[in-house]
Amino acid sequence: MQLLKEVFFLIKLKAKTMNKTDILTHLGEDREQYFNAIAPPIIQTSNFKFDTMADLKNAFAYERGSHLYTRGNNPTVTMCAKKIAALEGSEDALLVGSGAAAISNSVLANVQAGDHIVCVQNAYSWANKLMENFLPRFNVATTFVNGSDVANFENAIQENTKIFFLESPTSLMMEMQDLKAIVKLAKANNIITILDNSYGSPLNNNPIKWGIDIVFHSATKYIGGHSDVLAGVICSSKAMIDKIFQSEMMTLGNILGPQDAWLLMRGLRTLPIRVKEAAKTTKKVIKFLEKHPKVEKILYPHHKKHPQVKLARKQMPQEMSLFSVVFKTDDMAKLEKFVDDLKYFLIAVSWGGYESLALPIQTKYQDGLAQVVRFYVGLEESKVLILDIEQALDKMEI
Ligand SMILES: *Cc1c(COP(=O)(O)O)cnc(C)c1O
Repeated sequence: MQLLKEVFFLIKLKAKTMNKTDILTHLGEDREQYFNAIAPPIIQTSNFKFDTMADLKNAFAYERGSHLYTRGNNPTVTMCAKKIAALEGSEDALLVGSGAAAISNSVLANVQAGDHIVCVQNAYSWANKLMENFLPRFNVATTFVNGSDVANFENAIQENTKIFFLESPTSLMMEMQDLKAIVKLAKANNIITILDNSYGSPLNNNPIKWGIDIVFHSATKYIGGHSDVLAGVICSSKAMIDKIFQSEMMTLGNILGPQDAWLLMRGLRTLPIRVKEAAKTTKKVIKFLEKHPKVEKILYPHHKKHPQVKLARKQMPQEMSLFSVVFKTDDMAKLEKFVDDLKYFLIAVSWGGYESLALPIQTKYQDGLAQVVRFYVGLEESKVLILDIEQALDKMEI
């Protein structure tokens, strides 16, 4: 009986450690290859030599599968990409120089002149700019829809629609999309789904499992985690990654260098504890804010009053630490003063690092404008953050 129990425990342990722990700590690391060093080397080289001409020709024939030139493949970069693909549950992954490069590479690889895209409203600003300003120069048009109802996607489909561009939740107004329903519609119409998963991180929020074709991240945010590296990652099938590699990545050349890939790997080691801790603190900060008389509404997918909280729990089991607040004023000057009065939260764009941030923003929302303060909660103690918000709110006149 005791033996059986032990065997059962070992099987369970193996199943558990096979996933996140193993991926973050060991997967892709071949320590015998580099003096049994625990930390992987940064292979800082632009090119690689070949023993024979035949070997060089083989590499030319399939560059993605070889080490020829670092614009294509570099071992440090590939090691990091392998880990993120495994976390996301995708066949393959490609690291690029920024989240914006992940967006442009994935979209450009799947359209040509005359095509049409359906994109969610309030997607990340540079995704919007790609579709609003850049792609029309090449005769690719985009319809922007409110993503909270799948019928809006259906109504926007045209004969030449090639892509549904999604961001769930959007990173300012925190609107979710029903991925299962949207994928079903896309598959029935031969449309490729591309989703920005920067908010969710590749930890337990994995849209590949809902059938999304391409999942990408601004790895600058949670994956890097220390506000010191710009990077993007594209996760998809091997065929799609080969296609993006061969066309957009190699021609546009917006690659990630080995040093930055190494920093991403260092970030990955602690991703689970960083995210868990920040989410715990976020809960406390929100608990304080939701009771405050100057607060109108909290925009946070896992908040009990979020209209899509059920969908959020189903699609995105891991709670995160980015949210927005609507205060009982639409006066941007008052919101800006509030943020100026914060002593601890830093005034800055971006998010995903160890430091808490606040940013007042006015944005187009549904048929009008919305004014919010977006908060990112980092790794500080909740008491410090709550006291800071409290003193700044005391000064807010509404
Ligand atoms: C920051 C961000 C991006 C762009 O990533 P960069 O690494 O800054 O190029 C894309 N999507 C979301 C949701 C982001 O927050």
